[in-house]
Amino acid sequence: MPDVFADLVGQDEAVGTLRRAAAAAAAVLRAAAHPAGVGAGRPAATTGADLDAFAEEAETEGPPANPAVDPGGGMTHAWIFTGPPGSGRSVAARAFAAALQCAYGTGCGECPGCHTTMAGTHADVRLVVPEGLSIGVGEMRALVLRAASTPSGGRWQIVIIEDADRLTEAAGNALLKAIEEPPPRTVFLLCAPSTHPDDVSVTIRSRCRVVPLRQPPAAAVAEVLVRRDSIAPDVAHWAAAAAQGHVGRARRLARDPEARRRRDAVLAVPRRLTGVGTALDAASALIEAAEAEAEASVAEADAAERAALQTALGAGGTGRGAAGAIRGAAGQLKDLEKRQKSRATRAQRDALDRALVDLAGFYRDALTMALRAPVAPVHTDTAAMAEAGAQKWDAEGALRRLEAVLECRAAIEANVKPRIAVEAMMLALWKG
Ligand SMILES: [Zn+2]
Repeated sequence: MPDVFADLVGQDEAVGTLRRAAAAAAAVLRAAAHPAGVGAGRPAATTGADLDAFAEEAETEGPPANPAVDPGGGMTHAWIFTGPPGSGRSVAARAFAAALQCAYGTGCGECPGCHTTMAGTHADVRLVVPEGLSIGVGEMRALVLRAASTPSGGRWQIVIIEDADRLTEAAGNALLKAIEEPPPRTVFLLCAPSTHPDDVSVTIRSRCRVVPLRQPPAAAVAEVLVRRDSIAPDVAHWAAAAAQGHVGRARRLARDPEARRRRDAVLAVPRRLTGVGTALDAASALIEAAEAEAEASVAEADAAERAALQTALGAGGTGRGAAGAIRGAAGQLKDLEKRQKSRATRAQRDALDRALVDLAGFYRDALTMALRAPVAPVHTDTAAMAEAGAQKWDAEGALRRLEAVLECRAAIEANVKPRIAVEAMMLALWKG
């Protein structure tokens, strides 16, 4: 296994920050283990072994951050990773967690601390992945409570919250309380698209250190697909460009023929818009494709959860006890159904959003071609069609269409019914 930061594509600056913080955190732990040194201002440099460790770290870290000089510097208990979808927010959070739990350095990738964190099985690292539209207060309270316990591995208790922008207000408040009065060995790692107040409350933001991630360049994404996933270079370069900097999406496009077929169907839309009827048909097709994709993606998990709950509740039993258990279980089943419905809605929106991003890429290509801008197209395989669009619409018409797609995304994000938003967009794309 390579270094834990290896998959964080094109984010050298962020990786540098995180490595320095992990080194500082390790120094804090050493200082705590040798309290006699604290008064001297050189906390951990009290034994030969520690000095050796420092010498090693100084070699790998370089001059700007010698943790021996500044233990605790650069390390803090609450972090926010921001960046566009696919830039690697959760990859960064997980790698940093591994670096903090690393026994030998700042994320060697070899030790049990690194291994278990990256595999998601470390006892002191908890990952919250919201499945529905938001993270509820109950889930957050339970999490905060567990995060306050002493780390079993003797290092840090780490809570990673993916999509912190999907916290409910009450859940955000529960989290804020924990961040305001942090237990000494607890670290919170939040992931969000930005630090805009819509995504993260101002009070939480003010207590966190922010690590901004960039949209990785296509060449860097292609490189990781070739190296890590053994994807052929030409396929990797096509997928990296088509995915517009989204690493996970690029991998899916490169590997999954079904994902490629869906993308082809979306990119065929502009050519088909010849009238009101075809525009409305295209809207229906897009919505239904998103629904089908979402259904396929959650069906397996839904069935497994239902079966697990039924087993736990004793369904299939025949005694009097079993009958009582089933009556009491109705409420739990209802809860589960509610959670699953919320997850399905999220999956549908995500699928639709991916389609809209592909479509936006097409009109962006038409726009840059109309302007003769010297940039590579997003969708190399529909470049000829985009060029034809550029001729027909001119820059202004291409821009209006690009804006129609972006407005549709914004409307759905603001809870406009997807069908209504998509129909309005298709009509705008047809009329220009
Ligand atoms: Zn390690």
